[in-house]
Amino acid sequence: MNNDCSDLGSQEKKAKMQVVRSHTHRASYPSNDAVSVPTIPLYRSAPSLEVKLEEFESFAIDRLRVLKGISDGLSRGKKPEEMATLVKDLWKANMRHQHASEVLNKDIISHFVLRLVYCRTEELRKWFLSMESALFRYRFRDQSAEAQRAVMEEFDLPYKAISNVEYEGVKDKLVQVARSLGQNSSTVDAIYYKVPFEEVPELVAGRKVFLNQGFAYVAMSQVVSLVATLFRSQLSKALILTNRKWISSIRENEKHRLTPIVEAMSSSYLGPDYSQPREYGEITLKDIDQVAKSSFPLCMRHLFDKLREDHHLKHGGRMQLGLFLKGVGLNLDDALAFWRAEFSKKVGLEKFEKEYAYNVRHNYGKEGKRTDYTPYSCQKIISATPGAGDQHGCPYRHFSEENLRAALSTMGVNSRAMEDVINKVRNRHYQLACTLTFEALHGMPSSGINHPNQYFSDSQKIFQQKVSSRLQLIFKPILVNCTSSPRTSNKGYGCGEANEQRRCLKGGETSMEGFFSLSSFGYRKELI
Ligand code: SF4
Repeated sequence: MNNDCSDLGSQEKKAKMQVVRSHTHRASYPSNDAVSVPTIPLYRSAPSLEVKLEEFESFAIDRLRVLKGISDGLSRGKKPEEMATLVKDLWKANMRHQHASEVLNKDIISHFVLRLVYCRTEELRKWFLSMESALFRYRFRDQSAEAQRAVMEEFDLPYKAISNVEYEGVKDKLVQVARSLGQNSSTVDAIYYKVPFEEVPELVAGRKVFLNQGFAYVAMSQVVSLVATLFRSQLSKALILTNRKWISSIRENEKHRLTPIVEAMSSSYLGPDYSQPREYGEITLKDIDQVAKSSFPLCMRHLFDKLREDHHLKHGGRMQLGLFLKGVGLNLDDALAFWRAEFSKKVGLEKFEKEYAYNVRHNYGKEGKRTDYTPYSCQKIISATPGAGDQHGCPYRHFSEENLRAALSTMGVNSRAMEDVINKVRNRHYQLACTLTFEALHGMPSSGINHPNQYFSDSQKIFQQKVSSRLQLIFKPILVNCTSSPRTSNKGYGCGEANEQRRCLKGGETSMEGFFSLSSFGYRKELI
């Protein structure tokens, strides 16, 4: 089935993308963008090609991973050189295609789909514009001089490189500026463009160009700033046009097909699925208090403590905590026992069985539509709007600064790390604030928190590593001192018929209890 989709807000009316369901042959993008030297498309008009419905979504998700990675890198304050490597790696990891000829198509299609996704509100447009501009900037920097010139030509820049005569006249000044930027004489550019200074505000503000009579002398290596400004301004206008098109026709025309995909994508969670317990998950009732202290992120720790304190949580809190607990491996029987023990103190056993037990079973897919519900991602939790009396949501987003400081201090975050966390919160980088909390509490770097169950699983992984290295230290002398014939214990540790029964692994877990408390790490003994 072929359905004409839209021109996705392009300025050229004839340009259009068709979204198709079936597997059909598609010609490669026929524009001049498709050159043999890999270059960057300028996305001036939506391509005239057919797009499979599944590619419509999957290409866009791949690009979204790149943009979200850039956003994360920028908000972590990475330096330009670090960002350049990050962008290169992100692009390589996500934007490949099994057919080399399709790489450019994927680039273009994914851009136009996301343009549609992110044109819908001012906030979305702002984010997309910043991330796409950053992506463009770093990709442009990575191109050869020849490919960079090709892009400049496509932009139709009205600037010409200065002549040799003019260059010689200002050479000393240009070299002076270049040196002040840390370049040595051999790397100073020989090609300069004369540009009205107001068109390169970034370079002027950073004193990175020689200014003369209202013109900035922009080196070839600095042209990226010029080109990125143009790219940004064109994309900004295009997003407004796409938004108009979305409101006037696309949303309604595509309400049964593309609209739900588009509307879900801007808030979609792109990480792994935590609906099933993972390797480091699986907790039982007897461990729950211990692991809540050591490995729950603040959002879950808060709900857990509130439940223990008030013996009640409103619906939003029950869902958020309940699905999280399911994701970390609390089985249905234990979950029922857990909620029953708390709620019955407040509402009585009978009322719990009548009004609340159903919901617990429902979350595990045992009632109603029997859907196996997925634990909430950070994005979903952060975008919640808790009302009066609600305890759910993300504390970094929904707590007052005073309450957040108190909660972080209870968790054990020291005052220096606390200031870093609060700074991120003030800049509305809630997941980064959570990441810094994780790092402060675990003394290890984190790749970034995107999901409460990821926080849990990463935390458990670290504790397990710590336990393993302690065990190695503790058991080494025992094995050396062992006088009986060696054999291997059923836990995989080398062990003989040791003389000192208290320390002998032969007795397994029981024999370890006497001198080593695993519970101090929030760990169940079964894990090792
Ligand atoms: S950032 Fe995510 S894991 Fe951390 S507290 Fe907020 S919702 Fe929970």
